[in-house]
Amino acid sequence: MRFSTKAIHVGQEPDRATGAVTVPIYMTSTYSQRAQKEWVYGRTGNPTRAALETNLAALEEGKHGLCFSSGMGAITTALTLLTKGDHVVVTDDCYGGVYRIFTRIMSRYGIESTFVDMTDLVSVEDAIRGETRMIWAETPTNPLMKIVDLKEIAAIAKAHDAIGVCDNTFASPYLQQPLAMGMDIVVHSMTKYLGGHADILGGALVMRRDDLFEKVHFAQNALGAVPSPFDCWLVLRGVKTLAVRMEKHCDNAEALATFLSNHSKIAKVFYPGLPHHPGFTIAKRQMRRPGGMLSFVLKDSAQAMHVLQRLEVLTLAESLGGVETLIEHPASMTHASVPRDEREARGMTDGLVRLSVGIEDVEDLVDDLGHALG
Ligand SMILES: *Cc1c(COP(=O)(O)O)cnc(C)c1O
Repeated sequence: MRFSTKAIHVGQEPDRATGAVTVPIYMTSTYSQRAQKEWVYGRTGNPTRAALETNLAALEEGKHGLCFSSGMGAITTALTLLTKGDHVVVTDDCYGGVYRIFTRIMSRYGIESTFVDMTDLVSVEDAIRGETRMIWAETPTNPLMKIVDLKEIAAIAKAHDAIGVCDNTFASPYLQQPLAMGMDIVVHSMTKYLGGHADILGGALVMRRDDLFEKVHFAQNALGAVPSPFDCWLVLRGVKTLAVRMEKHCDNAEALATFLSNHSKIAKVFYPGLPHHPGFTIAKRQMRRPGGMLSFVLKDSAQAMHVLQRLEVLTLAESLGGVETLIEHPASMTHASVPRDEREARGMTDGLVRLSVGIEDVEDLVDDLGHALG
């Protein structure tokens, strides 16, 4: 089966009792044990959630899927694979919440982390210690759209007996499948492209290895960061259109990247589909298309917030991956929790603006941006 056929059908056979074509929303906290023993308690398992977990496992070419109440819920649960004294190598330009959890919370549990630019494989190797148990990759990165070579990172993880994790939120399984490139665990914030409509929070982990699944499955039930059946149903509904949405996100992002590259007020555009982007060749190899996310730097950085305030179609908001175009200012919004000197050292200057390109008519997006840039 190919991608969209799986998205629409796997885990979603018509209901045996009623023939319902759509998976029902099983709103129940517990299950009668008289006639069956498969379902026990809602935190431990739910049929709507199970349908989504089966579906996501198939979309990521994995074997096991697990869903959570948010992306951070999924991430926290995955981090219970670590023990006091372990060390993790993390993509430097990562999701702000991931940076925060490693530096402010995991550090208190005796788990150390080193942040490196993963486009530089030598610095990844150099960061590895005897205690390194996990490599945490993100690609394309946030907010600079750097491209990390997942096959190479997976090989390094294997060579050092570390668990290779990839946060695949920015690409979605339609554009990139990290497990097929040798990574051990895929992480998703379902809040973004998988849900796709900016109406739920959710997270997921997908893997092939039974040993990892056993531990993370136990932790899912033990920690309890599980999603509601209704949210799972909304993600199942969102995933059915993932392929068509991603194609349109990519069409629009490519058009906007070209428009912004040619604009006199813009100093630089970061989009892996532009031939001058340093990750262009790797992106071409490991992604189906370059994605719906891009960022750019204004020549006059003091103007960033003023430009964003003038927009009418594009919405000034955090988050990404929905049908509507969102624009934001990393230095004061999504990445405000990264200390200023650290932020600037990593290229997240005050003139940097990030765009999650939606699926509106691209002419309206171009007009709105052109007008706001003046
Ligand atoms: C949003 C996001 C997360 C966190 O997900 P939540 O659903 O907000 O908890 C993690 N990683 C990436 C790349 C994200 O964009």
